Amino acid sequence: MKAMRQPVIAGNWKMYMTIAESLDFARALKPLVVASTGCEIVVAPPFTAIKAVSDRLEGSNVEVAAQDVASEPGPGAFTGEVSASMIRDAGAKWVIIGHSERRQYYGESDESVNGKIHASIAVGLLPIVCVGERLEERNAGRAEQIVDAQLSGGLRNLTESEASRIIIAYEPIWAIGTGQTATPETAQQMHAFIRLRIKAIFGGPIADKTRILYGGSVKPDNILALMNQADIDGALVGGASLEADSFARIVNYKQSD
Ligand code: PEP
Repeated sequence: MKAMRQPVIAGNWKMYMTIAESLDFARALKPLVVASTGCEIVVAPPFTAIKAVSDRLEGSNVEVAAQDVASEPGPGAFTGEVSASMIRDAGAKWVIIGHSERRQYYGESDESVNGKIHASIAVGLLPIVCVGERLEERNAGRAEQIVDAQLSGGLRNLTESEASRIIIAYEPIWAIGTGQTATPETAQQMHAFIRLRIKAIFGGPIADKTRILYGGSVKPDNILALMNQADIDGALVGGASLEADSFARIVNYKQSD
């Protein structure tokens, strides 16, 4: 089953990189991954650099994501928001939705995640939907319950064909930016659970096809062990995606084996 799911390696730049820095990154990354045919490669610059990076990467094997999107389709009077169609217009093909930093600092709820997914799919953006539990929740034995609630709330009212366009990123909050990666076994256990839940909601064929990425302190030296797990189909990378060289080493994890 795993063989039919093309891996995705995505870099989340968060609130880093000016336009000039983003262009330097794109210029440096292209030759390092030009021969990487084994996975889809995505970078998520800040909104201000999406257009410049998309133009610079046009025709390459690296695609662009936004880090968030409005839940209102727009256009409309929503000061400060950026709509899914504006993101498409700027050249991005993907969008990260429900990152834990958005949930934690900006009140993102499963309901708003659901609205953002619908708005994105309506214009052909591919959502990378983040789920994951806090350390206290894991320690209390509630990790699966939390992720289950995020999935059922976030993925509400999607048709099978809409669901087939979604990628899930399992990002345990205790592993993000902490250097404390989940062990491959711990991550695999949750990925298998997520696939089961997708099967329960959308059926076996969609569950078999859905790519589930792991995120949380992924580095060049731990990516291979994670990717060797049956239900891990790629990675969402924060810190280690900010240097072209380390991001390329993650993308090229097979070659460096
Ligand atoms: C992230 O921001 O999605 C992330 C996984 O960050 P890091 O790789 O730095 O833990």
